[in-house]
Amino acid sequence: MNVPNKPRYEYAKHIGRTFFNKLNVESYPIDPIQIVYQMKWKFEIDNLYGEEGYTFYNPKTNKYCIVIDDTQRVKKQRCKFTIAHEIGHIILGHHTSFEVSNLTDMQFKILDLEADIVAGEILMPYNSIKKTSNNNIMYLANKYDVSYSAMKTRLKFLNLYDLYVEDELNANYR
Ligand SMILES: [Zn+2]
Repeated sequence: MNVPNKPRYEYAKHIGRTFFNKLNVESYPIDPIQIVYQMKWKFEIDNLYGEEGYTFYNPKTNKYCIVIDDTQRVKKQRCKFTIAHEIGHIILGHHTSFEVSNLTDMQFKILDLEADIVAGEILMPYNSIKKTSNNNIMYLANKYDVSYSAMKTRLKFLNLYDLYVEDELNANYR
């Protein structure tokens, strides 16, 4: 199978949302490491020499191992996003559909953008956002333990941004 010419946003959204809904998670913020264990994948922390996250796939055993590099002292929120992003690559079938060791930079970028969409669906689930009556972006960012800008990007992607208010502190600096 060839890597698509552009990110399949609707496909990634659908796969991410369906996957998340099946997990029956009811408490927030989401801990993506728990999802990795729930899926019986492996998780390790190692030095990846510049790479933030990586997933090893063994086609013989069909097993996955997500590795995160925390030697660069990246923030915990960033690590969580990286893990959710790697989950995205797995559930979108990137490792099984494409020859990931032999892709162009552009192809990598396309697959990364798809994985980012899944990360958003996992860390800031659509149904949960819709059920939350508080419409303050900072409140949501705290609830899902994501950065303010990640929350904002997510709301824009969902076409919900207009319904939410920026918190006063941020509004002052616009
Ligand atoms: Zn990636």
